[in-house]
Amino acid sequence: MLEIDKVRAGYGAINVLWDVSLSIAPGRLTTIIGPNGAGKTTLLRAIMGLLPVSAGSIRLSGKAINGTPTWNMSDAGVTMIPEGRMVFRDMSVEENLIMGAFPKQHRQHMPARLEQAYAMFPRLHERRRQLAGSLSGGEAQMLAMARGLMSDPSLLLIDEPSLGLAPLVVDELFAILARLNDGERTIILVEQNTARAVAVADHVILMQSGKVALSQAAREVDLEHLHALYFSR
Ligand code: ATP
Repeated sequence: MLEIDKVRAGYGAINVLWDVSLSIAPGRLTTIIGPNGAGKTTLLRAIMGLLPVSAGSIRLSGKAINGTPTWNMSDAGVTMIPEGRMVFRDMSVEENLIMGAFPKQHRQHMPARLEQAYAMFPRLHERRRQLAGSLSGGEAQMLAMARGLMSDPSLLLIDEPSLGLAPLVVDELFAILARLNDGERTIILVEQNTARAVAVADHVILMQSGKVALSQAAREVDLEHLHALYFSR
């Protein structure tokens, strides 16, 4: 589905990713974990075309996508749910959802997708007329997820969805992630909540200092070993 080969990327003169190579299997949930500053978000940005790749290649279903502008990534079936939710605060919940299906090719599917979104997130239906800026952190995260799903992406990148949420809301969020992992879509989940992320994932990647330190099937992961590796640098 997604092949990342010896990718280097960073910010101006500062390189962050050092020859990152990964293979993301279709229809699976891969979680990328790792300490602060390991380069997880930078990798998602490189995939989305938000950052130039200075070396290596990124291929989606066999097609090179490095250099593809971010606005074309949605045409390629890729959507990112960014850290910090980034909902349109002055728009209603429903208007935010509609924005997720705004590109021309999605508009005809909008009513059906809206219905699906409300079925998956009933709280958003209750609050559909409310301004997104007045939602709780958990509700805003659900809205960001639902908006990302409005384009029915084949590859969904989710950056730290549990950040700053109360434990009960985190439970709810991971239950939704487990439901989203239905074998139909490919998901890359960046998370700090290691144990929860491993529990919901099919594959686990540990990043450290801009490199892949471990890539393993989730069912084979030994959490103790993972934690020891995690804190080893
Ligand atoms: P976190 O869990 O803290 O979000 P991360 O693994 O996602 O960490 P990145 O956000 O990818 O890490 O950051 C990797 C490195 O790149 C860090 O050293 C960070 O300071 C640096 N960095 C991130 N964004 C920028 C930027 N816009 N300009 C310069 N350096 C940046």
